[in-house]
Amino acid sequence: MDYSVLAETYERLEAEPSKLKKADILAELFSKAPGQDLEKVVLMMRGTVFPGYSQMELGIADKLVIKAVARATGFKEDRVVDMFKRTGDLGLAAEACLKSKKQMSFSKRRLTVDFIFSDLRKLADMTGGGSQDRKLDLIAEMIVSAKPVEARYIIRTVLSNLRVGVMDAMIKNAIVAAFLASDDKKEASDAVEYALNIIADFGEVAAIAKERGLSGLRKARIDVGKPIQVMLAEKGESIDEILKKYKKVAIEWKFDGMRAQVHKRDGEVLIFTRRLEDVTRQFPDLVKLVKESVKSRECVIEGELLAINKKTGEPMPFQTLSQRVKRKHHIEKMAGEIPIQMNFFDAIYVDGELLINTPFGERRKILERIVRPIHGKIQLARQITTDDLKDAEKFYRSALDAKQEGIMLKVLDSSYVFGRHVDGWIKIKPVMETLDLLIVRATWGEGSRANWLTSFALACRDPESGGLLECGMMSTGLTEDEYREMTKTLKPLIVAEKGKDVTVRPKVIVEVAYQEIQKSPTYSSGFALRFPAFKNLRPDKDDADPIDRVRKLYASQGRAG
Ligand code: AMP
Repeated sequence: MDYSVLAETYERLEAEPSKLKKADILAELFSKAPGQDLEKVVLMMRGTVFPGYSQMELGIADKLVIKAVARATGFKEDRVVDMFKRTGDLGLAAEACLKSKKQMSFSKRRLTVDFIFSDLRKLADMTGGGSQDRKLDLIAEMIVSAKPVEARYIIRTVLSNLRVGVMDAMIKNAIVAAFLASDDKKEASDAVEYALNIIADFGEVAAIAKERGLSGLRKARIDVGKPIQVMLAEKGESIDEILKKYKKVAIEWKFDGMRAQVHKRDGEVLIFTRRLEDVTRQFPDLVKLVKESVKSRECVIEGELLAINKKTGEPMPFQTLSQRVKRKHHIEKMAGEIPIQMNFFDAIYVDGELLINTPFGERRKILERIVRPIHGKIQLARQITTDDLKDAEKFYRSALDAKQEGIMLKVLDSSYVFGRHVDGWIKIKPVMETLDLLIVRATWGEGSRANWLTSFALACRDPESGGLLECGMMSTGLTEDEYREMTKTLKPLIVAEKGKDVTVRPKVIVEVAYQEIQKSPTYSSGFALRFPAFKNLRPDKDDADPIDRVRKLYASQGRAG
């Protein structure tokens, strides 16, 4: 297929405001694209030459393109820059330069889709010394042979900015219209969606639709080594409500780390993020651990990856892990400094079997069968199965104590649903903005905690009276070190002691997360925080938040009065 057909289509798309009509234009193009070009045509309509999951980028800068256009058209770079300024678009600038070139050279090459596609891919492969020059040569060569309008879109694709307003949903609709017109429309678009979730490559899915139709799409297989779109969670209102609806559920800690999709085939292991980025290179330690602990020959399993404090073995905040994700050099050294821990929570594909329609409870059992835990490094997500509110709330507190985000409630007979938020997984976490509050009273602990203050009364400020108003008791969210530190800080501030309870001078401000604010006669503010959990000390602040802020946050929950 000639590239001019694509250029013409881009032009029509650019001029067409209606989304529906744009999808029609795309469908027309897809139907007439010959088999060998279809995948390329589909990708190029998305403005790229790589499938959605690929990490390859063209990464070409404006400056290089200006040079290439100048070289190809014989114009001075300043002229090209002028045109760029006037049009605000290097594609249009290239087009204008070609149009006003006095003597149009005869095309040396016929520009086909195949040709441009492979030249664009070559650009991404050029690295190392002299690569800038080679890229310049290649872009200039494409422009020399291009008609003005073709140059517009070649340049825009080179710069990864096509500007024709094509969205993924239009491409999906166009695939349905081009190849599945005789099928039920809803079934056809579900099948396309399903295949895209598993394959994540619009080009390949279009080719399957063309060659094998609806049944081919439905039979789309997971390709171990290519990432899938992951299942997402719904937000839950309250644990109580979820237990009432589903009775018994599995509950897991909602870890504050990075979702990792692990693909294993024989001796090969690949790691992908939730956004389908390949981060295998950044985690050689995880690759090694997976090889040691995962017993299946072939699988796609998922979990949450945490960074761990080397000395204490405690989880570190997500920011620490993200240093590892960003790291490009001396990766092994950093892996030594910031060790990781994987918490597996789902199995999607194991040894030839796609498990998405297997109930979650069963999938967990399969996961337990194939993963051999390695203490502190590879484990299964901590889980309880219960219908009891007290047990569930205790588990929630344990997650907050361990500095994790909250809990995930999982419906035992739910399927794995790609790429969407569904209520098979329901997350409960402190979603409100945190409050900065003063500690006004505390209570000594019991047993092994007898030497620590373990429970803290929190207060906000009443600016009218200047006094403090209590709004809850906090006894979660601190590590052992933090309890120790807090006790040391509060002890000199104790002004009265009665049994286990002490009153302290209000000096220590803490940032507190919580599930919700309730009205309550128990506390002088008239409000109580539900599940307050310690986040941080706030030595930088000189006063607690005012009662007004508590009132406003209460009202923002949508149930004031
Ligand atoms: P959110 O990003 O708040 O919508 O929550 C969903 C994310 O929680 C998932 O993408 C995972 O990265 C993370 N997560 C942590 N622990 C779990 C778990 N036990 N099960 C499922 N997802 C989890």
